Amino acid sequence: MKTINKIYVNGEFVTPHGKQMLDIISPVTNQKTGEVTLGDEIDTQNAVAAAKEAFKTFSKTTREERIAYLEKLRSVVSRRTKDLTDIMVEEYGGTFQFSSMVTQNMLNDISAMIDTLKVFKFEQTAGNSKVYLQPVGVVGIIIPWNMSNGFIVTKLSTAIAAGCAAVIKPSEMSVQQTQIMAECFHEAGLPKGVINFVNGLGDVVGAEITRNPDISKIAFTGSTTVGKIIAKGAVDSMKRVTLELGGKSPNIILDDANLEETIPTAILAAYLNSGQACAAGTRLLVPESKLDQVNAIAKAVVQNNIKVGDPKDADTVVGPMVNKKQYERVENYIRIGLEEGATLLIGGEGKPQGLEDGNFVKATIFTNVKNRMRIAQEEIFGPVLSIIPYKNDEDAIAIANDTTYGLHAYIFSADKERAYRMASRLDSGRVCINGLSHDSKAPFGGFKQSGIGREYGAFGLEEYLEPKAILG
Ligand code: NAD
Repeated sequence: MKTINKIYVNGEFVTPHGKQMLDIISPVTNQKTGEVTLGDEIDTQNAVAAAKEAFKTFSKTTREERIAYLEKLRSVVSRRTKDLTDIMVEEYGGTFQFSSMVTQNMLNDISAMIDTLKVFKFEQTAGNSKVYLQPVGVVGIIIPWNMSNGFIVTKLSTAIAAGCAAVIKPSEMSVQQTQIMAECFHEAGLPKGVINFVNGLGDVVGAEITRNPDISKIAFTGSTTVGKIIAKGAVDSMKRVTLELGGKSPNIILDDANLEETIPTAILAAYLNSGQACAAGTRLLVPESKLDQVNAIAKAVVQNNIKVGDPKDADTVVGPMVNKKQYERVENYIRIGLEEGATLLIGGEGKPQGLEDGNFVKATIFTNVKNRMRIAQEEIFGPVLSIIPYKNDEDAIAIANDTTYGLHAYIFSADKERAYRMASRLDSGRVCINGLSHDSKAPFGGFKQSGIGREYGAFGLEEYLEPKAILG
């Protein structure tokens, strides 16, 4: 049994004031594997006070000092990659494939922020005036469970680069991952109070972060529903907010694309992180005339290449859902798809044979889906793909944009110029052409209800800075 009974405040692992206990449950077996003691409002206030004090001196550090802290952090994270990967697999059932990639991305993200910081212009001119970009203050960070440490690294390395102090509340379902990451930050030797980790519930620790007047900005990643609650609460003290929210990403296969090559990749895009990814390409838009061919290939890919099973196995593509509630949610959407009249191509309700103990869902594809159906409009957050036929390029663009979300999109075409022209017409924060790439320096964030603001690189750094113009 694991016991997590410390939070990280003012440079020390301390016993929280909060007394509430939460069970840690394995998503593979649904057995209890440990317990965590959660922090409360007092713990959050203590962490904010420590960050406020630390900000006084950390905000005055030089670019070189902050680069040195980030370099130290990168070296510690690099040494602990195995621990960081293994705990993702164990705690929420992230597949080994996905978890290894996330850990590698963490290192790339820190390196990218170091590069950004090296050349970033903190002093600029506008008209005849000087403009200084100064750190915004204490940042409150609230994140979800589905790639927890990846979000911690992105947000905290940006805060450090900007000269901000931070209080972070990871998901209550990520406490084991958080423990290792807090150890990494401790070992990186940042001044005490600059970075604080408080485990706790959203409506307790998250709510205190949202209302605390000593926090100047909130960086949130999570659902659109909770993002709206936070944005409303933050406005009382006029906090700056960046919100990275949900998605229902279109993946447009143009009529010149090689289907045998692109459909397997498109299925991996849909089942990214077992489907529990904001950027998953869950709406596959295909030419009407090629629907039968796409269906045949997609079905064969799931039968032959998509292993649902133990997340520890190197060839598993779809692991368990994080908890029973998420499992039920995905099963419910599969029922909704059937009721709405979509054609079930493969998968469907119920657990795969031999995996009855865990929160496993069958890799599922619906075809002949209409974009107005709920399974095409709502974020399911599980391995459920909707194939939607379109008539021509204009129709594909209209369907792709017919959503309240706008986080991510994908286009596959033999003609890159044509794909670029189409990308310019999509309402989406990122568009990947002919693959599933990530760029640690390119902005990431959403149009419409997928959020406000951007992360990564110079665009991300600016969100942690406040411009001050000095005239005359
Ligand atoms: P969630 O919104 O339920 O929770 C996210 C965080 O908010 C958690 O730490 C939670 O404890 C906290 N929270 C909950 N209620 C709160 C409140 N009232 N006040 C303050 N904080 C509160 O999301 P989740 O289920 O953990 O994660 C899945 C969601 O995250 C999906 O919608 C997914 O699309 C989204 N997501 C977005 C991105 C992105 O970058 N755009 C990335 C990953 C996940």
